[in-house]
Amino acid sequence: MEDAELSFAHMGLDARLLQAVAELGWAKPTAVQEAAIPLALEGKDLLCRAKTGSGKTGAYALPLLQRLLNAKMAPTVSAQVVRVLVLVPTRELGRQVVRMLRQLAAHCARHARFADVSGSDDMSAQRPILMEKPDVVVGTPSRVLAHLQARNLSLQDSLELLVLDEADLLFSFGFEDDLKKLLCHLPKIYQTFLMSATFSADVQALKELVLHNPVTLKLQESQLPDSSQLSQYQIRSETEEDKFLLLYALLKLSLVRGKVILFVSTIDRCYRLKLFLEQFSIPACVLNSELPVQSRCHIITQFNKGFYDYIVATDEQHLAEPEVLGQGKKKRGKRAEKGKESGVARGIDFENVSAVINFDFPPSIESYIHRAGRTARAHNPGTVLTFVSCSESAQLAKIEAALVGETSAITLQPYQFQMEEIEGLRYRCRDAMRSVTKQAIKEARLREIKEELLNSEKLKTYFEDNPRDLNLLRHDQPLHPAIVKPHLRNVPEYLVPPSLQAVARPLNCKRKRRKPLPPRTKEQQNPLRSFKFTRQKSRTPAKRKKPS
Ligand code: AMP
Repeated sequence: MEDAELSFAHMGLDARLLQAVAELGWAKPTAVQEAAIPLALEGKDLLCRAKTGSGKTGAYALPLLQRLLNAKMAPTVSAQVVRVLVLVPTRELGRQVVRMLRQLAAHCARHARFADVSGSDDMSAQRPILMEKPDVVVGTPSRVLAHLQARNLSLQDSLELLVLDEADLLFSFGFEDDLKKLLCHLPKIYQTFLMSATFSADVQALKELVLHNPVTLKLQESQLPDSSQLSQYQIRSETEEDKFLLLYALLKLSLVRGKVILFVSTIDRCYRLKLFLEQFSIPACVLNSELPVQSRCHIITQFNKGFYDYIVATDEQHLAEPEVLGQGKKKRGKRAEKGKESGVARGIDFENVSAVINFDFPPSIESYIHRAGRTARAHNPGTVLTFVSCSESAQLAKIEAALVGETSAITLQPYQFQMEEIEGLRYRCRDAMRSVTKQAIKEARLREIKEELLNSEKLKTYFEDNPRDLNLLRHDQPLHPAIVKPHLRNVPEYLVPPSLQAVARPLNCKRKRRKPLPPRTKEQQNPLRSFKFTRQKSRTPAKRKKPS
């Protein structure tokens, strides 16, 4: 077997790209990178089945950058033009793609300029950026088309490479018409990479539109990593109360460690769980399509940086479904709009997630695979814990059958847990569950949207000027601090099950925090309020300093 690091080096990539790859800690190419990069460098059109987490962005970003470097290093100096267009279904993915491109181009930044027009900025604000003819433009089909129509962008004479990322979502998010119109603005010949998690009928249609004699890479990788990398467990729970009790024990006794995403079925359930955990002083962030896009991106960025351990999320596709079911074409447009805005669960890159907990059972096999795919990314290990009630056994069997079909080895192992051992915690759990009333959930949900809308606006303007302050804004603040019972914060030693004494590490809060905290000032409750002051204060001396 070849030396791992030599694998990237043997692909014919520029030394500056290899240096960036090494700095990212990519010791060896993932399966999709190994297959796609050499073919892409040969100039082939690619139809590539690759899901988020497989390293698909690197698979097209490296040959893309190599192409740019080849063009820039050519003996005859060519004019600055837009050579590459990357189409994405969501703004979040757009940002992420540009971030990855910038990381990979860290040592050749002079030769590779990028413009992300997938964001919510005004077209007029993006115009000057496009006028400078960046080498790579990343955007959603509708925004790119709008720029082409407004003549802010021209690709007819310059485009060399088109990438369609998460292509299966491009059609289902309602971009079909925009995409067809956009293609009329492209030259006759260019190379195309189509990356898609599935080969659906939409992708087949797209293939006809944009690919010329493509090489199809249907990698023999299973939908999920094998058991040496991803451990998959089922936890049987007979009642709703058992489910909450088990979760309380798993988290509070630190039986599940590291960063965790908890999946639930509805937005209300997100808040029920967040408020429940709040009762035990376990902070968690809620992530769903109801929150403004700026906030969602900020939550994920902070989660990736290690600010939070727990995110409670919903399946976005599942959320979008009720709007579509049984409704005509008109509604598809509505769903498409929502789709353009949402995309919490797909395409977004959560980093270093050590466990996914399916608190509510996934609504479909696809959903299970998407949820599980948030952990064990690239070459990292991960765990999926799925709560299963009796009535969900049949669905579990279907999921297992689908997984077995892929690799003939994966089943969800029973998570060995003696319910009797955590009975001592039940009264605390019951107490906490009682506090989380429907009214409390409603209020928490409203309050969070209100705060996040405010944050979102300020995030956009204030933090552009003051990027350092961004870290002070947290999204895991208690939403109902008044009803948190202090005695629930810690697990006394006598309640830790004897068999778990060796492994459990109760997540107890520090002693000094047990004292009732002094009432918080408005500024402490919402750091954004004090930012206002900071900005005003810092401006005054700056003005005074002006000498003449
Ligand atoms: P993607 O599938 O492009 O969303 O990538 C998922 C994650 O895998 C990202 O955090 C990448 O930084 C990481 N990644 C991509 N390629 C590799 C590699 N060859 N080795 C290790 N990590 C990688």
